[in-house]
Amino acid sequence: MTLASEAAALPAESAWRNAQRQFDRAAELLDLTQPLRAILREVHRELVVHFPVKMDDGRVEVYTGFRVQHNLARGPAKGGLRFHPDTDLDEVKALAMWMTWKCALANIPFGGAKGGVTVDPQALSRAELERLTRRFASEISLLVGPASDIPAPDVNTSAQVMAWIMDTLSMDAGYSRPAVVTGKPLAIGGSRGRPEATGRGVSIVALDACRRLGMDPTTATVAIQGFGNVGSVSARMLAARGFRVCAVSDVNGGIHNPGGLELEEVEAHLRRTGRLAGLPGAREVSNAELLELPVDVLVPAALESVITAGNAGRIQARLVVEGANGPVTPDADAILERRGITVVPDILANAGGVTVSYFEWVQDLQSFFWDEDDINIKLERVMRRAFAETAEQADARRVSLRMGAYLVAVQRVAEATSVRGIFP
Ligand code: GLU
Repeated sequence: MTLASEAAALPAESAWRNAQRQFDRAAELLDLTQPLRAILREVHRELVVHFPVKMDDGRVEVYTGFRVQHNLARGPAKGGLRFHPDTDLDEVKALAMWMTWKCALANIPFGGAKGGVTVDPQALSRAELERLTRRFASEISLLVGPASDIPAPDVNTSAQVMAWIMDTLSMDAGYSRPAVVTGKPLAIGGSRGRPEATGRGVSIVALDACRRLGMDPTTATVAIQGFGNVGSVSARMLAARGFRVCAVSDVNGGIHNPGGLELEEVEAHLRRTGRLAGLPGAREVSNAELLELPVDVLVPAALESVITAGNAGRIQARLVVEGANGPVTPDADAILERRGITVVPDILANAGGVTVSYFEWVQDLQSFFWDEDDINIKLERVMRRAFAETAEQADARRVSLRMGAYLVAVQRVAEATSVRGIFP
């Protein structure tokens, strides 16, 4: 059997099932009532749309897109939109649930949502991408709005994509509606600091985690999987805080130099050649190899379910900081915990993005914009408080940081859901 067919024969790891397993464990520890368990382990709304897009060559392609809202008890639904060939309803439901916990942990007044389109955007021209985005925006407009559900960038979606969505929904209304999406360009109501926010947040909690473990960041080595917005900014911010970034990768594979990578050279090489491979002085590694490198800190910042029961036993890092959503499966979590490897969970580690999205939404609603310093100070405060609350719960209940974070987050959502009661 070839490797590919072997992989195809295995049941794929279900992100939604993993998200529910994590919730169930927290519900058990919190001793949640039956109604709360039943409500919170399911999503609230799921919209699936099939929509046509005119291609440059005259053909029409029909694409499938999703917008799922998990819970609205604490405020409007919030969460990104991703364009990826593997995006499906199961994945989007998991990502929506994780957004609910993430917003609750950061203590920002949002519920959780996520959306996406099953598409490889690299295979589209810019004009096709714009038409796909605008049509998708129109299709999900029955859910989206500043008071109801506010999308943002995620995997393979950019500030430009957000600008097209904002423009589409504004054209429909007849006036500009900046607060319908976050992660927009500055020119149309975006926030200072938003493009760097997730990576900045990753570096803030990585420092807190080092303090907790008694690790010296200035001698710590780091490997980062994913070199999109989250991975590349995390690399830059971690290096600025003294960490030695030794390995990075993108969809095409990665590079490793145990002595440390010069990130400006990496970015310049990537811009010039379109690839990380071939950087002088760095050895090529696959994405799977990168995860198992002998480094102190591992930052999976690409897609979900990359650390599974299959490779968790071979992870060498002492600290895993989840830049991506859902990169470590529950089975892998148990193995890492047994091996004494600390995981800073996604709902804490990558909450910087949605936190500055919240600041952007507030600025748009009041039409009054803040300095970058104000934003970064407020972001740091939110991240450090969330870390401290997570660590406190983890220590009090003798559980992992993931469960500590879930205990704080699920408790907040449960309280809001319960005090509102069940309609009618
Ligand atoms: N897509 C990001 C996330 O997974 C940001 C979401 C947002 O800003 O609404 O947290």
